[in-house]
Amino acid sequence: MASILTALWADTVPAALNKPLGTRLSEDVTADVVIVGGGYTGLWTAYHLQMQAPDLRVTIVEAEQAGFGASGRNGGWCSAHFPASLPKIARKYGVAAAQAMQSTMHDTVAAIHTTIKREGWQVDAAAGGAVMAARTPVQLQRAEEEITTWRRFGFGAEDYRLLTAVETTDRLAATDVLGGLYTPHCMAIHPAKLIRELATTVVARGATLYEDSPAVSLTAGIVRTDHGSVQAPIVVRATEGYTATIPGHHRDLVPVYSLMLATEPLSAATWDQIGLAERETFTDLRNLVIYGQRTADDRIAFGGRGAPYHFGSSIKPEFDQNSLVFQQLWATLIDLFPVIVNREVTHTWGGPLGVPRDWFASCGLDRTTGLAWSGGYVGDGVGTSYLGGATLADLILDQSTERTGLAWVNHRSRRWEPEPLRWIGTNLGLRTMTAADTAEDRTAKPSTRARLFSRLLGS
Ligand SMILES: Cc1cc2nc3c(=O)[nH]c(=O)nc-3n(C[C@H](O)[C@H](O)[C@H](O)COP(=O)(O)OP(=O)(O)OC[C@H]3O[C@@H](n4cnc5c(N)ncnc54)[C@H](O)[C@@H]3O)c2cc1C
Repeated sequence: MASILTALWADTVPAALNKPLGTRLSEDVTADVVIVGGGYTGLWTAYHLQMQAPDLRVTIVEAEQAGFGASGRNGGWCSAHFPASLPKIARKYGVAAAQAMQSTMHDTVAAIHTTIKREGWQVDAAAGGAVMAARTPVQLQRAEEEITTWRRFGFGAEDYRLLTAVETTDRLAATDVLGGLYTPHCMAIHPAKLIRELATTVVARGATLYEDSPAVSLTAGIVRTDHGSVQAPIVVRATEGYTATIPGHHRDLVPVYSLMLATEPLSAATWDQIGLAERETFTDLRNLVIYGQRTADDRIAFGGRGAPYHFGSSIKPEFDQNSLVFQQLWATLIDLFPVIVNREVTHTWGGPLGVPRDWFASCGLDRTTGLAWSGGYVGDGVGTSYLGGATLADLILDQSTERTGLAWVNHRSRRWEPEPLRWIGTNLGLRTMTAADTAEDRTAKPSTRARLFSRLLGS
């Protein structure tokens, strides 16, 4: 049987987790809650609803298979990074709201770890934290500024720590290290194992999962597919990078591609030269995002942005492959770790993530229509989607909790511009970040263009 998952994660997931769990929706049915999208957001929502209200009839409608989207493809950084900076949250909702959001993100990573252990899921979790290397003077300055911001918001060295060059190299022996940052609030996971374990659990507890069932419309009280519909008073949109394909939601989130590669398993001697002994996730502090993890089978899974945004928010399987971006990723990786120059790249893949116009994730429920949503996580949805699912469960069950009082609940981002402005703006942003890194290497000064662009986004 062909794999229902992609690339490295498909090849390393147990066969029992890599087969369909649901059938196609082929009639008209009813439920108490219908969730569109079988990724982390949809399934954590189902999971938390079941925990709190086991008798609720929860139905999930998934276009392909649970885990087909970003949840089955990502870099496996389960981090406490909320996709809006503390100053940005504070400007809109106040300092206390920013602090509460961040503290909750810390608790979220711990809660996911506890859940994995309690459920007995085998997802290759390693709570080794994250190390972020500063490899140029500008990056070092950025690290110091980040620490100043953390301290200003009351987060101490137990949460975010400035590392010397030696301390950084002890964890991550990359080239040119001048210093770095470390946070314990991050866990490496195998993303596809997590989503398929979660889906299996949710189905075993009684949720109905329809796979191979793309929703063609999502309106108050009803979700329709070409072969059947689900009527329910609560309709949850959990489609993230695919949201633009849903009628009425074309300009809510832009799909931006993140691409990844994986090396063959590396020898113990090679790992002695690279580090990551605790399977810390890693990055450096350049402008254009890169991210990596040491997998449980001793490969490097490494990814980054840089792929173009496609006109009209279009999403196609061929966009998952972009040889130029893979070449750039590989060049970056061997620049970090020259010791792997002759190692093989065994897998390349990618997928769309969802970016709101103000880069501010949100979740919420409109009580008048029964329409709920969670998303816009940019590249930080592994942790945030758990919080989104738990919060949606509280909102749907009409419970007022600390979670439902957080700043991102019912936050509204304005819609993206129509084309061609969306295409021009998004690709300009991606190019600005790449150009900014080159300029910083050349001038040894922070890029003014990158700062200007960040300001445009309100970060
Ligand atoms: C390559 C890559 C690397 C990433 N790395 C990280 C990382 O290391 N750490 C991190 O925190 N985040 C990372 N992210 C982002 C993270 O994976 C996502 O934010 C998160 O998985 C979003 O989960 P979701 O359930 O909201 O969306 P998805 O997992 O995308 O799920 C949406 C689901 O909706 C389904 N769907 C779409 N349209 C329809 C329809 N019409 N009807 C029914 N179903 C539909 C899709 O098939 C899909 O299964 C990465 C993303 C990518 C692409």
